Amino acid sequence: MSLKFIRFERTPRERGRQHGEIMRSEIAANADVYLARFCDFGIDQVAIQAEAKRWLSFLEQTSENYVEEVRGISEAANLSTDTVTMLNVRHEIGFPLMARTAIDLSNIVDGCTSAGLMPETTSQGTAMLAQTIDGPMPVCGTMFVGRISETNNSWLGVFEAGCVGPTAGLNEAGIGLVCNSLLTAIDGRGPMFPPFKVRTRAILESRRFDRVIQAIVRRDRNSSMNYLVGHSDGEIVSIETSPNSTRYLFPDNGVVTHANHFEPGGNIVSEFDRFVPSSVYRSHRLGRHLRSKLGSIDVDHVLAGLKDHFSYPASICLHPDKDTPGAQSSTIVAVVMDLKRLVLLATDGPPCGAPVQTFDLAG
Ligand SMILES: [Zn+2]
Repeated sequence: MSLKFIRFERTPRERGRQHGEIMRSEIAANADVYLARFCDFGIDQVAIQAEAKRWLSFLEQTSENYVEEVRGISEAANLSTDTVTMLNVRHEIGFPLMARTAIDLSNIVDGCTSAGLMPETTSQGTAMLAQTIDGPMPVCGTMFVGRISETNNSWLGVFEAGCVGPTAGLNEAGIGLVCNSLLTAIDGRGPMFPPFKVRTRAILESRRFDRVIQAIVRRDRNSSMNYLVGHSDGEIVSIETSPNSTRYLFPDNGVVTHANHFEPGGNIVSEFDRFVPSSVYRSHRLGRHLRSKLGSIDVDHVLAGLKDHFSYPASICLHPDKDTPGAQSSTIVAVVMDLKRLVLLATDGPPCGAPVQTFDLAG
């Protein structure tokens, strides 16, 4: 298995059509997975479609180019616009449902573990970001890497099939992004705000760090999320967000890590760790591992941290749990980014077994 690479055209509609054509089978598979998952959360297909329509209407009023790209994907993938929209707002649709039924879902949810490294901690003096992206097992093999070239900015993103907004990435201004899902009891209860994937796209389209932070904090949110953002000049901040509050975590000894619960010290009540308890140790373990080579951290050391199998299969490198019936989760992609050299390394599958692919924005 290897991650497909798409060098995107310039207009949103063209980009969408490329995406829909190249990733047609993966998008269809992704749609099936999340429809089934939402049904497991107790919502029927009619209600999902109605929710997707509501979000499409909101995006038409607020994010014209984003919707153009969604429509291009829909045309080329032979799927309804509602279905592609559903994939793009799956956090906003699904996570509130999870919050209400969380205790019963311990076998079908997953997380991510991420890290940010200041230049002084790494062997080559470069700021780095890294993460494992975890998800439902059938999503394994459906993600891809895209390169977007705009008039004043180029960027690389790791994308879920069918999604216009990336999950992680870096741009030519030296700005990088990794994310962790978070959850509170009030997720999905307020009025509509720009969804997660619209914000990740805006982050990588930004050439200034203040604009990055603005994309995260200016408007309230419908779903909680940790946005770990960095700049090649040596700035990293992990921004925990709930629908109506934010909290900034800065590197300790040049290293910051995060998983799927709100870190201690704040006042936001966390829901995710109630049913993904591995979150409690994943962030700390990765942080301890990285700090064991302060000043000489290289890609291999970061990858070794992402391959960690402590408390397998509920480890940083997540594997399916054969002892538990029902839907299974896994690490889908592992990413390591060098924000100075503008290189993104990624694996298609758990990093303990999948080969590392190199995507060079400067090349
Ligand atoms: Zn593994």
